[in-house]
Amino acid sequence: MDNLYTQEKAAQCKSNLDLRVYTSNLLGSNDELVLHGGGNTSVKGQIDGEDVLYVKGSGWDLADIKAEGFAPVKLNTLLEMVKETSMSDEEMVARQREAMLTSSAPNPSVEALLHALIPHKFVDHTHADAIVTISNSVDGDELIVKLFPNYLIVDYVMPGFELAHKIYEMTKNLNWNDIDGIILHNHGIFTFGESAKESYDKMIESVTLAEKFLDENAVVNIVHKYVHSDCDITRVIKTMSEYKGHEVHIGINQTPLAAFYASQENLREFASRGVLTPEHIIRTKRVPLIMEDTDLIGGIQGYIKEYEAYFKRYAKDEVMLNPAPNYMIIKNLAVVSFGRTKKEAKIIYDIVEHTMLAVLRADKLGGYKSISEKDSFAMEYWELEQAKLKK
Ligand code: ZN
Repeated sequence: MDNLYTQEKAAQCKSNLDLRVYTSNLLGSNDELVLHGGGNTSVKGQIDGEDVLYVKGSGWDLADIKAEGFAPVKLNTLLEMVKETSMSDEEMVARQREAMLTSSAPNPSVEALLHALIPHKFVDHTHADAIVTISNSVDGDELIVKLFPNYLIVDYVMPGFELAHKIYEMTKNLNWNDIDGIILHNHGIFTFGESAKESYDKMIESVTLAEKFLDENAVVNIVHKYVHSDCDITRVIKTMSEYKGHEVHIGINQTPLAAFYASQENLREFASRGVLTPEHIIRTKRVPLIMEDTDLIGGIQGYIKEYEAYFKRYAKDEVMLNPAPNYMIIKNLAVVSFGRTKKEAKIIYDIVEHTMLAVLRADKLGGYKSISEKDSFAMEYWELEQAKLKK
């Protein structure tokens, strides 16, 4: 992976926050590190003598974040919060908001507590494809330990307060200078340093290491003969719009990768093994609709039935999201994403594109294995998202 940092550009930055913006944009410009709003970064500083964490605000994308996209939050308040044994996401957001020094700033990222906990000045977090591909393989535990002996390795836990508190417990007796970063299984990676460059360099180095490992151990030969099929796209849009209850925009992926993916044996099992990193589930749902024949309505109805059963298995008092699929795989032909807008269809298209290669590569390492169905549900029905629905 190319290191895009240049001394010339860095020299134009007038403050640590400017440098924070600069390397955040570098991370965001690489879709193999983060996709569409994924990942987050921070820098620690001071305002009027008070220690402050400037952390990515939710709603901002690392690719084009600016200084005003970072929320300044009192560091000591965050450090007190992370010690508590339990906290709802709603409470976390409210208390973080109270501790903000600029009321017009966006809400701090859901990972703000973890950023606060890491004592280094600059902290970078991505969902790097290469790292999550290895972590999401059946031998991911051993492989990650072998590749990253100097990293703190954390088993999967729900992002937000739970994750931050778990790492607080794990690092009580740790000298942070003894580790190079943190790997969150099935989720992503954190690196940090005293300078923006140090933290960014570590990110690129560790992802490059993972990429090299995959290049040597998980080579995927994409071979595919196109099979012609009479897929009526106008009918797909019309039918999906009916089930979604709004006009649907679509993205059709017929690249060699997508066609190869869609031609795998036991397609339903093969392509229904969950998301690459937890937050993708908000966009893609856990599994796609698999179309192996031309009965589109029967396919959608079957999908909805299974989704409702999945919802019933885990729901307590949640409100069910629209149960229709967010993307479908047409056997031997294409991968089609559905969005409320063109942009949303493209976001789903991109996420699935990255997931497909990761699944194929993880299979070369023995098999792809994502978070459990139960953990997927917890993420899909994230309290904060639900709060909006219940209103
Ligand atoms: Zn993350």
